[in-house]
Amino acid sequence: MSSKPSTGIPVVLSGPSGAGKTTIQKQLLSRYQDLVPSISATTRPPRPGEVHGKDYLFLSEPEFQSGIEQNLFLEHAQVHGHFYGTPKGPLEEHLHLGVDVLLVIDVQGGLQIRSACTESLLIFLLPPSMADLAKRIDSRGDVPPGEMQVRLRNAEWEMSFATQYDYLVINRNLDEAVSQVRSILVADRCRTQRAVRRIHHLGIDLPGLEGRG
Ligand code: 5GP
Repeated sequence: MSSKPSTGIPVVLSGPSGAGKTTIQKQLLSRYQDLVPSISATTRPPRPGEVHGKDYLFLSEPEFQSGIEQNLFLEHAQVHGHFYGTPKGPLEEHLHLGVDVLLVIDVQGGLQIRSACTESLLIFLLPPSMADLAKRIDSRGDVPPGEMQVRLRNAEWEMSFATQYDYLVINRNLDEAVSQVRSILVADRCRTQRAVRRIHHLGIDLPGLEGRG
């Protein structure tokens, strides 16, 4: 990241497929106007109804590789055989304007964001139980016969990184999970280290804060 001071927070939301990340992302973005999504780049083909530039930037593999070579991604990873990456430019612009950015990405990407941006906030979404996760994956109706065990093993692998995240949210109920993620963000904005940057702009002098933030 550039050395310019930034005040926005990169908010990473990760969790196994079936935990409800996409639904929570949609709810957060529709309810709160002070949060914008990071639009990821991917080499996976669009699903029906997905729009280039809104859901993802759909790139060919050579285009994605060229993005890596030009250092255009803040993080990138291979997930289920396709490449995914977070474009740096729009993210940095929002952060510099003080706008928080929501990144719904996998654990490999989440941990890269943590290394690249010390100010990031990492939230991991868990299902209420493995049985519930299996039920949710099954209800999507896109699991080929015999694939359920693979999906569940992948979910366990993702969840093995959960304790490296700052917060864990259990998605027992959509409204409750959305409100917990929101509350985490609101509280995190007020952390002394973050708030001090805003306080400097107000011209308020608080003893003991020199050199922090
Ligand atoms: P899907 O293709 O189903 O939309 O996403 C597959 C997985 O890739 C999900 O876990 C999703 O969170 C993750 N993903 C989406 N965008 C990115 C990204 O920019 N970087 C990384 N590392 N993972 C991503």
